[in-house]
Amino acid sequence: MDCPRCGGEIETYSLSGHDAEICESCGYVGVAVEHQSEPEEFESWNDALQRFYDDHAS
Ligand SMILES: [Zn+2]
Repeated sequence: MDCPRCGGEIETYSLSGHDAEICESCGYVGVAVEHQSEPEEFESWNDALQRFYDDHAS
């Protein structure tokens, strides 16, 4: 597989059930998310960031 950014060769790594596609030439990182997996980590990250901003806004 070729990197969509620089056309270099992409290495695929498996990270906790997900495949991460990483180009060592330009640092491009693509994550292939499987459809059956819920984005729970992303949701909790959003919640955590929102709380952080709310605290500092007041
Ligand atoms: Zn690249």
